[in-house]
Formats: sequence, structure tokens, C-alpha cells
Amino acid sequence: MSRKPIIAGNWKMNLLQEDAKSLFMGIATFAENFSKDQLPEIVIAPTFLSIPAVESMRCDKCRPLIATASQNCHWENSGAYTGEVSVEMIKDAGCSYVIIGHSERRQYFSETDEMINKKAKAILAGGLIPIICCGETLEQRESGVTDEHIASQIRAALKGLSEDEIAKSAIAYEPIWAIGTGKSCDATEANRVIAMIRNVVKEVSSSKAADSIRILYGGSVKPSTIEEQMSKSDIDGALIGGASLKADSFNEIIEKTMKVAV
Ligand code: PEP
Repeated sequence: MSRKPIIAGNWKMNLLQEDAKSLFMGIATFAENFSKDQLPEIVIAPTFLSIPAVESMRCDKCRPLIATASQNCHWENSGAYTGEVSVEMIKDAGCSYVIIGHSERRQYFSETDEMINKKAKAILAGGLIPIICCGETLEQRESGVTDEHIASQIRAALKGLSEDEIAKSAIAYEPIWAIGTGKSCDATEANRVIAMIRNVVKEVSSSKAADSIRILYGGSVKPSTIEEQMSKSDIDGALIGGASLKADSFNEIIEKTMKVAV
């Protein structure tokens, strides 16, 4: 089954509003040379504050070509949760995706599997698409528990979701030792882990859900690595940090993806 690839840029805690607008325009100007069918699904994830700035730059031509994601959300709609932002607010700002469970949030903000599951449910109930991150530490990889760790993260994240909800979701496999280190996971190994994740999806849901869900790779993806990654059978796209912060490198990743996989 052919799955439309997703190329997603995670801008993390970078870029003031004017810089975010310029980066968006650099990507939009490139994307506008193509039709929606020629492009992968392009997703950008600015900070909460830069989402409205980026949305204010949209024109009718680029609107369908680039989707916006937030990098986090709360699972409640509103209420006394100081500092948090709800799915309804994220949708209202123009987003269609939400990244959840990024290793930086798990590590620095104590995000648990249970919280990620609540967020996934809220995102889907709100009509948005979760990009659910998972991945192992170097220590876990070296002690041989990568597969069981990731399988347990995925089972917990998808708990209680319907087949349709799982089918429309996305997962990003991001080995923690490959994030921001310049050291990408070998593409064959990334593909193996992603195929394993697809099997877990089949086991907790169905073949239909496993065939439909997009599973991305993330971890030091660069223009020089994307072709090999995208040529693998189970890798449906990339979640990109560092190389998404410059229009040139992000656009080159999009262009190379189009050659190999769209
Ligand atoms: C990320 O933060 O999701 C990521 C993959 O970062 P980088 O591409 O910089 O490794």
C-alpha cells in the first residue's frame, strides 16, 4: 500500500517571529513550484508563539501545501492548567498536527506514556493528527532492549484508540542517541525498527491500521541521508530538527523525498 510521505520540521525552541516568518516563506516559495500531488505532506512545527505569525503569512496557493503542527498540547479543553495550551486552541490557531511524546519532553518535562495517550485521544477527538514520538536511549540499545522498550511505548500511546484513529495517526521513531548528534541511525536498522512498530500496530489494532499509519524516522536527518532513508520500505517520512531550521536544507530534503518516494 502506498502511503503519502510526511516531511516534518520540528523547530523546537528556536526562531523569533520574524525569523519564523522568513523560514516559512523560504519553504512556501519552494513548495509553490509544485502541485500538492507532487509534494510529500510538508509539516512545520514552530513554537506556540510563532504559529500565528507563520499562519499570517499564508496565501491561497501555499495553504494546502504546508501544514502546521504544535510541538505539544494539553489533553483538557480548558481550565486551570497554567502555562498549557489545549487542542481546541491549537486547532483555532490553524494547526492540523500535534507532535507528542518527543524525547525532550519525556526527559526534561517528565512526560509519561499515560500523558501521551491522553494527549493522543484529545488530539484525535479534536480532529487533528498526532505525531507520536518514540525511541530508545543509547544505554537501552546497547543492552538489547530497544524493541521491547519501543513496543511498550507504542502500546501505551495507542491504548483505547479506534482502528480509524490509529490509521490516520503518525508515529516518529527517533532513537534518542541520534537526535541532534549528527549521527543518524543506519537506514536498514531504522527500517527494521519501523517494521517492528508496524507489527505492534497490527497486533494492537488491525492490518488496515498498520498499513495506513505513517511511521517516520527522526534523528540527524540531513539532505545527504534522506534518499537512502526514504528508499526503505517502511519509512514513511522524516521528523527533522536541525536541518529544518534553514529553508535550503529543508527544501533539499523535500526535493529528494519527491524523487524517491512521492
Ligand atoms: C528531533 O528533534 O525530532 C530531531 C530529530 O532533531 P535532529 O534532526 O536535529 O536530530
